[in-house]
Amino acid sequence: MTAENIPRATAKRLPIYYRYLNILHDTGKSRISSTELAEAVQVDSATIRRDFSYFGALGKRGYGYDVDSLLSFFKQILNQEHLTNVALIGVGNLGHALLNFNFHKDGNVRISAAFDTNDAIVNKIQDGVPVYPITELAHQLKEQQIQVVILTVPSSAAQGVTDDAVAGGVKGILNFTPIRLAVPDAVLVQNVDLTNELQTLIYFIENFGK
Ligand code: NAD
Repeated sequence: MTAENIPRATAKRLPIYYRYLNILHDTGKSRISSTELAEAVQVDSATIRRDFSYFGALGKRGYGYDVDSLLSFFKQILNQEHLTNVALIGVGNLGHALLNFNFHKDGNVRISAAFDTNDAIVNKIQDGVPVYPITELAHQLKEQQIQVVILTVPSSAAQGVTDDAVAGGVKGILNFTPIRLAVPDAVLVQNVDLTNELQTLIYFIENFGK
């Protein structure tokens, strides 16, 4: 099974499993049952078994899963051994917060370049990251071989900036703007909408809460 064949929903759960396995590893636990894992990560055990089955028989009946071998397996799948540089476009309220956070906890992803139109912040270092003028976007993405960008510009600028990023060779866009971006088939867009997430949470509390 190659990474392209893994269902998207499964792929989205892999970092959740990976994070929890790291915690288990740090506490010295060497194995875990799918039921225990299910309780910890709040994913039902049948789903966990199905997710893991895409990668072959990783667990043994009556024994559970070996934490270290699962961990090294996920490390490989999730490319955790390689540092991935990403760019942030739009260093305003939201962009600033993301730059400041900079994914330290996960270790393998970091924002290494930022872009903006505001003369007051370009050509400066912000939270340890250089902020380039947006006019340099395509050139810098190619130069620094950055394939993933985080989009935190106003809606009105979103599509234009996306076109430039695509011209610069990006393969993936984490889109915080409310715009549904038009991109070539080969480019993946992951939309993040906090309002949506909150409304979903409230819906579940109201309809299925204890
Ligand atoms: P902001 O106005 O504080 O920041 C936008 C930044 O983009 C500014 O620094 C501005 O100079 C820069 N910018 C403008 N045009 C640009 C261009 N063409 N190229 C590069 N940079 C450019 O806005 P914000 O509050 O940080 O919000 C940013 C975006 O995120 C908006 O689209 C907003 O709707 C969205 N947003 C999404 C969520 C969510 O949950 N998805 C939450 C908050 C905000």
